[in-house]
Amino acid sequence: MVEVKAKVINLKMYIDGEWKDAENQETRPVINPANSEVIATAPEGTVEDARAAIYAARKAFENGVWSGLSAQERASYLLKVADKIDEYAEELTELETLDNGKPLREAGGDIADAAACFRYYAGLITKPDGQTYHVADPMQAMVVREPIGVCGLIVPWNYPLLMSVWKIAPALAAGNTIVFKPSEVTPITPKKLFEIFEEVGLPKGAANMVMGAGPVVGNEIASHPEVDMVSFTGGTKTGKHIMKAAADTMKKVSLELGGKSPNIIFADADFETAVDYALFGIYCGTGQVCSAGSRILVEESIYDQFVARFVERAKQIKVGPGNDPATEMGPLVSAQHLEKVLHYIELGKQEGATVACGGNRIKSNNLENGFFVEPTVFIDVKQDMRIVQEEIFGPVVVIQKFKDEAEAVKLANGTVYGLAGAVFSNDGAKALRVIKKLRAGITWINSYHPTYNEAPWGGYKQSGIGRSLGTFGLEEFQEIKQININLQVEPVGWFEN
Ligand code: NDP
Repeated sequence: MVEVKAKVINLKMYIDGEWKDAENQETRPVINPANSEVIATAPEGTVEDARAAIYAARKAFENGVWSGLSAQERASYLLKVADKIDEYAEELTELETLDNGKPLREAGGDIADAAACFRYYAGLITKPDGQTYHVADPMQAMVVREPIGVCGLIVPWNYPLLMSVWKIAPALAAGNTIVFKPSEVTPITPKKLFEIFEEVGLPKGAANMVMGAGPVVGNEIASHPEVDMVSFTGGTKTGKHIMKAAADTMKKVSLELGGKSPNIIFADADFETAVDYALFGIYCGTGQVCSAGSRILVEESIYDQFVARFVERAKQIKVGPGNDPATEMGPLVSAQHLEKVLHYIELGKQEGATVACGGNRIKSNNLENGFFVEPTVFIDVKQDMRIVQEEIFGPVVVIQKFKDEAEAVKLANGTVYGLAGAVFSNDGAKALRVIKKLRAGITWINSYHPTYNEAPWGGYKQSGIGRSLGTFGLEEFQEIKQININLQVEPVGWFEN
């Protein structure tokens, strides 16, 4: 077992290249979700702190210390950051597990992905872009992509470093300056990333980090007129607040929100593969994954067999502290989130659903001080139940039954969300037919969860606006400008005199 450091980490904000406490000196504790111990203190930033970061980013954008560099120069900084993430991978992995609770093998994967994401955007930004048009002589028209300006980036706690990097890497690659806010629940690895920025000599003011409550600091970022764009990942309810806060200044908004994603399993699927991926789809990350396969839809002829096998395996999942190598599923991220998940479990029972397994907080095996919940399965659910419609964001899955393709699609699309979805079938044509009918932005056939830096990530409907990752993720952080050049410089002659 990796030793948990007893020392409390004293976090600071990073504004204009300086490490800062909150202007009012207030802090809040950061808690280890495996045992409720205080592991760090974070500055409780204020509106004034947010403004200081915004002005620093504005100044840096205007004076061109970052936006004025060539793509190649910016890329070389990003590559150095990627190398440093690799160099500190072991420490970052331990810190991620300490703060978020996820098992070490999950945290290790996130850290490696974060380095790869910086490399991907370092490469992409140096590749050809823009367009030229053959318009009527003597004009020449072309399109260039430019940075948007100051980008506000607000991220959640489920992938503390990786969600930060999905925004920071493309935003910086494009030449923007940033004001970044981690979740107050998990600020430790993001702070380490900003130490890396300092270490590689990123120009002052290019990347600023403020901490503090979302409704205070986050709201200021979303509403401030000097912020040109806000990019947010988190709950749909918060996303709506952010959209409203951004509306007055008409800033560009990019939102990666929640989901209630369907995982459709046909009778002709490879049975054990489908069960295995269905478990991975919901219980990886303790269900705190926006794309989690939280609704399993199973064809009626194999429904009972599927539920029996799924429950048998769910009961065997080893739940424990993330820093125990034997752990397969860690705790929920916070006491507040534990309450929310337990509330949904109670609600499911009140709504008349049957708990096929789990349903309780775990207090045995020295887990009583952590935020551990059993892998939970609900059956006998109806489509209009809140546990079927709403994002629980925990290790809680509903298993529904369908008769045919049409019913599978209807149930799958029957929520306000549209983030992800999967189909398991050995009939390739049927699988693709169904996938094409899903109103969702991220889909898999005979798989669940793989995510690539190259491929766009984001949702339909109330799962968000815009895309992260890939070329699409870079374009989110770019403005588009048309340039029309007159190749024959003489008066237009529209007016006679
Ligand atoms: P939030 O969506 O509220 O938090 C995400 C980020 O937004 C945090 O940095 C938070 O700050 C910030 N924030 C909160 N309120 C505002 C605001 N008014 N203006 C600007 N920024 C704000 O997630 P919660 O932790 O509250 O979780 C609530 C639910 O959201 C979860 O139970 C889950 O269902 C869903 N969720 C979905 C995620 C996803 O990836 N789809 C990720 C996280 C949550 P801070 O927390 O520091 O105060």
